Amino acid sequence: MKILVTGGAGFIGSAVVRLAVSRGHKVVNLDALTYAACLDNVASVSDNPLYAFEQADIRDRGALDLIFAAHAPDAVMHLAAESHVDRSIDGPGDFVETNITGTYNMLEAARSHWESRGRPESFRFHHVSTDEVFGSLPADPAVKFTEDTPYDPRSPYSASKAASDHLVRAWHETYGLPVVLSNCSNNYGPYHFPEKLIPVVILNALAGKPLPIYGRGENVRDWLYVEDHADALLTVVERGAVGRSYNIGGENERSNLELVRTLCTILDELRPAAAPYAEQIAFVADRPGHDARYAIDPSRIREELGWRPSVTVEEGLRRTVQWYLDNEDWWRPLQAREGVGQRLGTARAA
Ligand code: NAD
Repeated sequence: MKILVTGGAGFIGSAVVRLAVSRGHKVVNLDALTYAACLDNVASVSDNPLYAFEQADIRDRGALDLIFAAHAPDAVMHLAAESHVDRSIDGPGDFVETNITGTYNMLEAARSHWESRGRPESFRFHHVSTDEVFGSLPADPAVKFTEDTPYDPRSPYSASKAASDHLVRAWHETYGLPVVLSNCSNNYGPYHFPEKLIPVVILNALAGKPLPIYGRGENVRDWLYVEDHADALLTVVERGAVGRSYNIGGENERSNLELVRTLCTILDELRPAAAPYAEQIAFVADRPGHDARYAIDPSRIREELGWRPSVTVEEGLRRTVQWYLDNEDWWRPLQAREGVGQRLGTARAA
C-alpha cells in the first residue's frame, strides 16, 4: 500500500512511519514541521526508497492537491494536529485552524483524488483521534469509553478533535468516502516531545527539578505504548471496516500520582541519585476543566480485528526511561524550542 501519513514527524506519526516502512509499505510523510516536529524521529527510514517526505501545511489546500497528484496514495493516515491541551487553553485559534479546517482540507483533497480515480472501494481515509472527545468518566472502574459513548469534549483541543471526527463521518455519509476512525487513550514512549507529562517527569528528575503534578494527582489516564498504538493504527487502516470507528487502549489505568511514582522507582533503579526521585514531586494548581478520568474499552478492535498491545505498562515505562537516558542528543535541543522551556514547570497528562 502507498500511505500518505500526515504529522509523520511528530510523536505518534513517526512511530507509524517507521513501522509502516518496516512492513514494506510505501510512505509519504506530509508534515508542516511545527515546533512539535522533529525529522530525527524518522532518521532511521529517511534513506529508505519506500519513504518520501513532503513539507506542507494542511491548512493549505493547494499544497495538498499537488501532493495527492504527485504521489497518488492508496490510503491516508491523518495524524497531523495541534496536540497539546495546555497550549489549546492558552491559544485555541491554531487548534481550530489545523484540527478542524486542516482536516476539512484533507477530506476535500482526498475526495477529489478518490473521485478522479473512479472512487476505488479499496481507498481508505483513516482519521486518528483521541478518547478526549468523550469527556470525563466517573471513578467507577466498570464504566469505560466505548465507540457508542456520546461525545462531550471539554477543552479546546478535544472540541477541535471532536469537530474533525464529525467532519470525517459526514464525508463518509454524504460523499461515500471510505473512511475509518480510531480514538486512542494517552500514548507514551520514545520520541515523546519534552513538554508532555512523562518526558517532563523524567527530564526534570534528572535535572534535580520539581516533578509537577496537577491538583492532587488523582486524575486517571489509560496509558498505551506508542509502538502498540502504531501497530493498532496499521491494523485499522489495513483491515478496519469502512465507516467504522475503533477505540484503542491498553487497559492500563493509572492516576497521575501513581504514574509519576512508578517513573521515580524506575529512575531510582536505572540512574540512582543521592535521594529517591519521589522526593522531588510537587503539586501545582490544577488545569482548568481538568477531566477526572479516561478509560478505553478496546473490545471492538480486539474482537473484530484481533489487535492486542504487546507490552505491559511496566515494561513500556522502563523502555521509555531507558530511551531518554540514552538519547540526550535528541531531547536536549528540543527543550530550547519556543515555549517549551517555560512549560517544564507544569505538566499535563496527554
Ligand atoms: P505531535 O504534536 O507529536 O505531532 C503532530 C505533528 O503534526 C507534528 O509533526 C506537527 O509538525 C504536525 N502538524 C501540526 N500542525 C500541522 C499542520 N497545520 N500541517 C501539517 N502538519 C502539522 O502529536 P501526537 O501526539 O503525535 O499526536 C498525533 C495525532 O494523534 C493527533 O491527531 C492527536 O490528536 C492524536 N492522538 C494523540 C494521543 C497522544 O497521547 N499523544 C492520543 C490519542 C490520539
